[in-house]
Amino acid sequence: MNTQINSDYVPDVLVIGGGIAGLQSALDLADQDLRVLVVERNSSIGGRMIGLSKVFPTLDCASCITTPKMSAAAHHPNIQILTNTEVQAMETRNGIHSVRLLQKPTYVNFDKCIGCRLCEYACDTEYPDPFEEGLGSVRAIAVPFTNAIPQKAVLDAEHCATCGVCARVCPTDAIEFDQQPRTLTIHTDSVIVASGFNLNAVTVKPQYNAARSSNIIPPTMMERLLAPHGPYGRVLRPSDGKIPSSVAFVQCAGSRDESIGVPYCSRVCCMYAIKQAMLLSGALPLADITIYYMDIRAFGKGYEQFFQNARAMGINFVRGKVARVDPIEDGDLRLHVETTDDAENPLQEHRHDLVVLAQGMIPAWNPAATTPVACASDGFVATPSLTDPTATSAPGIFVAGAAAGPKDIVDTIAEAGAAAMQVSRYLHEKRAAVLVGQAVHG
Ligand SMILES: Cc1cc2nc3c(=O)[nH]c(=O)nc-3n(C[C@H](O)[C@H](O)[C@H](O)COP(=O)(O)OP(=O)(O)OC[C@H]3O[C@@H](n4cnc5c(N)ncnc54)[C@H](O)[C@@H]3O)c2cc1C
Repeated sequence: MNTQINSDYVPDVLVIGGGIAGLQSALDLADQDLRVLVVERNSSIGGRMIGLSKVFPTLDCASCITTPKMSAAAHHPNIQILTNTEVQAMETRNGIHSVRLLQKPTYVNFDKCIGCRLCEYACDTEYPDPFEEGLGSVRAIAVPFTNAIPQKAVLDAEHCATCGVCARVCPTDAIEFDQQPRTLTIHTDSVIVASGFNLNAVTVKPQYNAARSSNIIPPTMMERLLAPHGPYGRVLRPSDGKIPSSVAFVQCAGSRDESIGVPYCSRVCCMYAIKQAMLLSGALPLADITIYYMDIRAFGKGYEQFFQNARAMGINFVRGKVARVDPIEDGDLRLHVETTDDAENPLQEHRHDLVVLAQGMIPAWNPAATTPVACASDGFVATPSLTDPTATSAPGIFVAGAAAGPKDIVDTIAEAGAAAMQVSRYLHEKRAAVLVGQAVHG
């Protein structure tokens, strides 16, 4: 795995995003002897999936699936990976894509860093750990998380106390306080956009009052609470460390609502809420767990059975819309619900001690602003061909995974393989045409 690449490096394919889509495409292409450059803006590859607890519908451990793929990509002789590097813009001339990258300073020389973590142990400054959704804390210089790839320390300039202790304890003199951002342009024959998704803010609907209570949490935080090596090792509520006894999942809390600019369905929320409810009932057998939903969209293979299993386990499903969430005494929350389950009493109030909001999935990156790739009206990469779902509006540039729209892992992996196949065909045809041209002209 290389950490410094120059503009004279010419990969056959540049993959934007080191999530599960980007890694799967990269591995499929590299196995065909093509040279692949994966560009990831975070400090580790793995994308969203490396932060999940278990995955629906199999309940397999997410990091047990993701880590081997991350490692395979990092060790593949045909794959180069740049982390802490953002794709900023791209232009295409004569079939060659010139991709402008911004490498952010890590203040650590990755060629020298051996991942010993002595700097991390010596550092005195802590801030809320982004990988743990702010639940635990991390040192200002640290390897991002246990199974991060690369296993290199990164210094967070915003939180660094500039005491210099890291430089003093580093056995390989890897700390470089004078690093600067670096831009470089890579020229390549083809590109896969695998930039994935973000979630809209947990505060997007003011009526849910997430800004007023730390016990109204995003689903990604619940993933970390449920993860076997999560921040507490068990499920505790953030405000006071209490073991929750009544947990509510509020569905469509950031999707299917024109008023917040997300009129579409985020597709995975029903399934991950059911998954989290099942895992919670295993972790907290005495807890009362309720999912408030408009309709359950269990669209994939085995998903309906998964939903029925959750019902059989005793998870409560209340059909209706949560109108408001109010923080009340003892850190608890009161939900105001309009339900269709009870015709006599449709307007109900329920008390819970922890609430998970199913936020909407939105694009993580908008390529339309700075590249030839068009986006659809929802902001995700447009896929104009019904019969070729990985083709974008720009020849030679393909898309995979949640960059094209909300998607589960199964569909993401299938699409990543399809995008790799299309790139391989595209390059084959492009290079064959060049050879024919050379033969004709001379
Ligand atoms: C709470 C929650 C639970 C879920 N649980 C499940 C589950 O149990 N089962 C399941 O099937 N699905 C689940 N999903 C869906 C799953 O997370 C997605 O299907 C999957 O992560 C999509 O992978 P991806 O690679 O397309 O995107 P991502 O995982 O988002 O990866 C994209 C990567 O691209 C990088 N990137 C973005 N822009 C740039 C740029 N300009 N330059 C460089 N890098 C960039 C990002 O940093 C990121 O690492 C869940 C989703 C959520 C929110």
